[in-house]
Amino acid sequence: MSLLKVVQAIYRDAGYQCRLLAEVIYPRRCAVCANEIDTGYFCESCRKSFALGKFVAQAEALDTVLMLYKYQRELQTAIQNIKFAGQKDLLPLLKEEAWLALETDMGSFLANFDVITCVPTSPERKKERGFDVPQEIFGFLADGRWQADLLKRVRNTTPLFDLDPSLRRQEVAGCFQVQGSVLGKRVLICDDIFTTGSTMSEGALALRMAGARSVSGLAFTASKDNW
Ligand SMILES: [Zn+2]
Repeated sequence: MSLLKVVQAIYRDAGYQCRLLAEVIYPRRCAVCANEIDTGYFCESCRKSFALGKFVAQAEALDTVLMLYKYQRELQTAIQNIKFAGQKDLLPLLKEEAWLALETDMGSFLANFDVITCVPTSPERKKERGFDVPQEIFGFLADGRWQADLLKRVRNTTPLFDLDPSLRRQEVAGCFQVQGSVLGKRVLICDDIFTTGSTMSEGALALRMAGARSVSGLAFTASKDNW
């Protein structure tokens, strides 16, 4: 681990510790109803309106995709604030939400994989933000199977949200390179938002070409078309 990474990790943890300390005086509150909570971003009852917990079989190059939450309202705003307003103190709360969703029966899904990785943010955007959102949200999966940098972006892509699905495919074609061996492995790719799945599927394609036996996806949130 580089010194920069160590400093970043300490800084992040310090931010989270400060938040926990502040919560002694100002308790954490559900982002929807403002009821007091201990963990995550929502209270149990509000979480239900965001929970998706949906498995999708075969999405292009992906065998299965598990979608944890609906990309809507307060959760959508939180992700946008993290990405575009630098509000990274929300990340640990969303990480807890991911953990809460996977802790249930869905957790057995994780047992199906030899390698777990995530869709990499472009180096430019990562440099701007100082962090990689999927890595931060799913970093708790960091057991021996976690290989955060397995996929490398070898080509810049323009933001996809304005493009229609066929153009998205073209835009991401060949944008990933696999770093490391995945021969015969069952790989899981994590991402923060699943829209048309073109980016995740492109990652899956690269992994299959590199010899992966199977590739599936795990999305923290999914856009409305997937519900
Ligand atoms: Zn609530």
